[in-house]
Amino acid sequence: MKHHCCARMSEMIAVTCDQHPDRFDCPDCLVQYLLKFDEYGLIIHDGGSSSISIAYCPWCGTRLPESKRDQWFVELAALGFDNPTEQEIPERYKSDAWFMETD
Ligand SMILES: [Zn+2]
Ligand SMILES: [Zn+2]
Repeated sequence: MKHHCCARMSEMIAVTCDQHPDRFDCPDCLVQYLLKFDEYGLIIHDGGSSSISIAYCPWCGTRLPESKRDQWFVELAALGFDNPTEQEIPERYKSDAWFMETD
């Protein structure tokens, strides 16, 4: 289990509801966490799946890690993946393993 800054954040990220299987459809779901990018975002309820990345926790004020989204694309490009969201990428890039593992 990923450790978040506070219990409130962990709760909000885990919010699911019976009426909205897709969290982006649910007005009660406010934040999402993308493990592979280490990115926290506020869900924008515009019918799509967009979010605004946030730098600080709205509840406890903790500085959140900077999104590794750009680095993710750079590293995969270096491995020859020019369209990683559509390609079969190494397992470690599907979770936080690619930036957690140090060698
Ligand atoms: Zn927090
Ligand atoms: Zn709902």
